[in-house]
Amino acid sequence: MVAPDRRAATGRGQWADVDTLRYKAAGSAPFRDITRQLLFDDPQLACQLRYFEVAAGGFSTLERHEHLHAVMILNGRGHCLIGDTVHAVAERDLIRIGPLQWHQFRADQGEPLGFLCMVNAVRDRPQLPSAQELAALESNPSVAAFLRADG
Ligand code: MN
Repeated sequence: MVAPDRRAATGRGQWADVDTLRYKAAGSAPFRDITRQLLFDDPQLACQLRYFEVAAGGFSTLERHEHLHAVMILNGRGHCLIGDTVHAVAERDLIRIGPLQWHQFRADQGEPLGFLCMVNAVRDRPQLPSAQELAALESNPSVAAFLRADG
């Protein structure tokens, strides 16, 4: 379905005629307090543009895949893990997530995090870390602190 030429912004992270969707099926992967909106899903584009909003203290799934993400932070602030590095992120920052880089986004406590994410329309399924891969990530103290931020 082709979207109308214009869908007006109606608030922070809200647009007319854009549904707020669940992030993923519950129980399919670990995540907390995050929603998904599909802003552009045009068959004539090879990409989709989504908007994710992570409530304060929430997080996306720790995952990796062959396809890339091109991200712009739109609202709030938080931290993201890319590969083995934790980055503080804030409004208008640009983030590239390359093939098979482990990644996760976390909103800071008391501050939601909203971001745009461009992704291939046709893409491979995300992989979750094995216990060994998780242990390897957690061998880096700053990564371990990031991953345990949910207590
Ligand atoms: Mn991903």
